Amino acid sequence: MKKIELSVIPGDGIGKEVVPEAIRVLDTVANIHGGLKFNNIEYPWSSQYYVEHGKMMPDNALDLLSQSDAIFLGAIGDPALVKDHISLGGLLLKIRREFEQVINVRPAKLLKGMVSPLSNPKDFDMIIVRENSEGEYSSSGGRVHNGIDEIVVQNAVFTKKGVSRVMEYAFELARKRSGHLTSATKSNGIVHSMPFWDEVLSEISQKYSDVQMQNIHIDALSAFFITKPQTMDVVVASNLFGDILSDIGGAIMGSIGIAPAANINLNGKYPSMFEPVHGSAPDIYGKGIANPIGQIWTAKMMLDHLGEEELGALVLEAIEDTLHAGIKTPDIGGKSTMTEVTDTIISNIEEKA
Ligand code: ATP
Ligand code: MG
Repeated sequence: MKKIELSVIPGDGIGKEVVPEAIRVLDTVANIHGGLKFNNIEYPWSSQYYVEHGKMMPDNALDLLSQSDAIFLGAIGDPALVKDHISLGGLLLKIRREFEQVINVRPAKLLKGMVSPLSNPKDFDMIIVRENSEGEYSSSGGRVHNGIDEIVVQNAVFTKKGVSRVMEYAFELARKRSGHLTSATKSNGIVHSMPFWDEVLSEISQKYSDVQMQNIHIDALSAFFITKPQTMDVVVASNLFGDILSDIGGAIMGSIGIAPAANINLNGKYPSMFEPVHGSAPDIYGKGIANPIGQIWTAKMMLDHLGEEELGALVLEAIEDTLHAGIKTPDIGGKSTMTEVTDTIISNIEEKA
């Protein structure tokens, strides 16, 4: 029996609704597999927890989480109770940083049955690999007033180690998929960090002569995400560029409610964390209409990460069949409830297995 120790943090708002739905799906595939079992430990850490305890998580939270094979997170943030920078900083960002989750992975794929805002969308299926620990999002810099003017400096910090590891990850992923990698650069305008980015890309690419590689300036690449997303496969980008590209990728898929994400720890010292792109959506919490697909697709990414790719593929097929049959929540133009969507996904899985 393969046992997977799972830390589950439903968090705030619709996180508390969609996480149990995704767990139902995980239990279904574990049953089908027969030799797989999830041992879930659920933690109530959330904005409500902050109101009661003055912190987002207890002091031994990281110790507790570090025992698990993976962390399955819903959404964090309830601005009516706690300011976002406190709730996110006290939980999400802390886990990402302390557990060295240096890479953020976000698929952007036009699922069968989804309507894209692009007028003539061709089938696209890409994965954005974003550097998650350094780059443009740095605290280095400051403000001065020299008596004449106000001067602000914001530094971007790139390390050889940081850039190399995200490139390696992206090349490996491209090799496993269609063998095609796109890098986001801007070395014609950003004259220190981006030429360095390009240099590391070219150095790492020597080891991957089987992977076809292109390096495109971020402005043009953003446009290509709209005009020809079907030409992209794996896309590797710095922290800021990856942040922007993954939002464009999410937008062209049709809804934030279906988009999944993973924060990957590479050195195996700590667990990776799986959380959908969407937030806690306080505006629809409690109505039973949250789209569970973002969380369920996130569970699929976690299955892949845990070496259960066949089960992962089964889950994604079942999601697509559900959408194709028009079983959709209101955010994507349907009339179904969250529970109906999950129930249909589960029966599709059981039918296919
Ligand atoms: P974050 O919490 O990441 O800062 P946010 O609070 O700005 O994000 P979300 O909570 O993701 O944004 O919600 C943005 C909009 O998308 C809201 O109108 C919300 O209702 C809708 N939305 C988000 N997730 C879902 C979902 N799973 N199903 C349906 N609608 C959703
Ligand atoms: Mg929010």
